[in-house]
Amino acid sequence: MELASQDAELRAALFRFVDVVPACRSLDDLAQHLSGFLGEVDDRPPPLEVAMRMSGTKAGRAALGAAAAAGVKHMAHRFIVGETPRDANAVLEELWRRGVATSVDLLGEATVTSPEADRYAARCREALDGLAEVYRGLPPRPRLEEDSAGRIPRANLSVKVSALTPLLRPDAPERGKRDAAGRLRDLLRRARELDAHLHIDMESYDSREAVTELVLELLAEEEFRDGPSAGLVLQAYLRDSPELCDRIIAWAQVTPRGYPLLVRLVKGAYWDHEIVEARQHGWESPVFEVKADSDRNFEALTLRLLEARPSVRVAIASHNLRSIAHAIAANRAMGGDDVDVEIQVLRGLGDDLQQALATRGLRVRTYCPVGDLVAGMAYLVRRLLENTSNESFLHEQAAGRPLEELLAAP
Ligand SMILES: Cc1cc2nc3c(=O)[nH]c(=O)nc-3n(C[C@H](O)[C@H](O)[C@H](O)COP(=O)(O)OP(=O)(O)OC[C@H]3O[C@@H](n4cnc5c(N)ncnc54)[C@H](O)[C@@H]3O)c2cc1C
Repeated sequence: MELASQDAELRAALFRFVDVVPACRSLDDLAQHLSGFLGEVDDRPPPLEVAMRMSGTKAGRAALGAAAAAGVKHMAHRFIVGETPRDANAVLEELWRRGVATSVDLLGEATVTSPEADRYAARCREALDGLAEVYRGLPPRPRLEEDSAGRIPRANLSVKVSALTPLLRPDAPERGKRDAAGRLRDLLRRARELDAHLHIDMESYDSREAVTELVLELLAEEEFRDGPSAGLVLQAYLRDSPELCDRIIAWAQVTPRGYPLLVRLVKGAYWDHEIVEARQHGWESPVFEVKADSDRNFEALTLRLLEARPSVRVAIASHNLRSIAHAIAANRAMGGDDVDVEIQVLRGLGDDLQQALATRGLRVRTYCPVGDLVAGMAYLVRRLLENTSNESFLHEQAAGRPLEELLAAP
C-alpha cells in the first residue's frame, strides 16, 4: 500500500489484480495475473522486480500466488468482520463490552436481477433478527442507548438501495424507487418489530436523488411515524450538499417522528468515480476537487446539522481528527451534551480512534461490513483507494505529518 500510494501506475495495476482475485482458480493463475498486471508498470520498485522474477518458474509462481492470496485475504480481514452475520457476533459483542456500538453492513451492491435483490433483502431480514438476538443479551451501556432525544436502538443495520433493486438508474429514477420501496418497506417493518435501527447508505451521485427521495417518502408514511429509528447519509464532498442539507432539515421539521431522523455526515466514498465519470462526459464534476473544500464544507454542514437538533440526530462519520474534534467542540460551544453527537468510524480504519473516543465517554459506532470477498470487492477497493490517496488524513498521519498541521483549520 505504501508503494502504491507513491505511484499511480502501480496503484492501478494492484487494484486490477485485487479485482480479479476472487475469480482466480489456482495459485498459478493468481501469480500469472499479478505478474501480468505488474508487467505493465514501467518503473518497478525492487520488491516487485523480485515478484516478477519468481513468476518465471512453476515453483516460483506457486509461492508468489500463495503470498499474493494471503496478502489480499489479510487486507480483506482488516476491513470485513466475517463472512456471515453469525461469524461477526463475537466481534459485535466484544465491541459492545468495550463501550462501542456498531452498524452492520451486508456487503453487496448494484444487483442486476430481481431474485438477487430479493436474496439481499432476505439476508438483511435475517441479519436484523440475528442482531436483535445478539444485542438482547448484552449488558447495559447507557452512553450507547440514550441521548437527549430518547432511546437509541442497540441493533443497527446499514443497507444499500442499489442492492435492493436492479432498476436504480438515473434516467428512470421512479422505476428504481418503486421497485426498491417494496423491499425497503418490508425491512422497515421488521426493524420496527425488533426495535432495530435501519440506516440507508448513500452511493454514487447518479442515484443520490432517488435514494434521498425514497427514504424521505417512506419515512413520512403514516405507518412509519413512530418507528423504526432510521437514517440517511449526507455527502459533504458534493458541491450541492448544503442545499440538500437544508431540504433534509426542512423535511425533518415538518415530519415529526417517534425517533428523529439520524443524519450521518460523511465526506463521500466515491470521489475517484465521480471525477472520472464527469471527465468522461465532459461535465463539471459534482464533487469538490480541492480536498480542503470538502473539509471546510464538512465543518459547515456539521454546524447546520447540530443546530437543527432535536429535529434530527447527528452522526459524524470520519477518521479525520480535525473533522471529529471540530464537531465535538462545536457541540460543546453550543451548550450541547457530548451524548447528542455520535461519532462513527469504519472497521479496520478507525480501530484505535474508536477506543480513544469510547474511553473519553463519547458515543462511538463502528461500521462493520460482513460478507465474502466477491461481495466485498467494491467496498475493499474503495477502502484501498482511500488508504493510498496522498490527501487522506490517515495517510498523512501515517506518513508523519505533524499533528499541529493536521489539526489546522482547512
Ligand atoms: C461509519 C461510516 C459510514 C460511511 N458511510 C458512507 C456512505 O454511506 N456513503 C459514502 O459515500 N461514504 C461513506 N463513508 C465514507 C466516507 O465518505 C469517507 O470516504 C471516509 O470516511 C474518508 O473521509 P475522512 O473524513 O475519514 O478522511 P479525510 O482524509 O479527511 O477525507 C478523505 C475524503 O475527502 C474527499 N476528498 C479526497 N480528495 C479530495 C479532493 N482532491 N477534493 C475534494 N475532496 C476530496 C473524499 O471524500 C475522501 O474520501 C462512511 C464512513 C464512515 C466512517
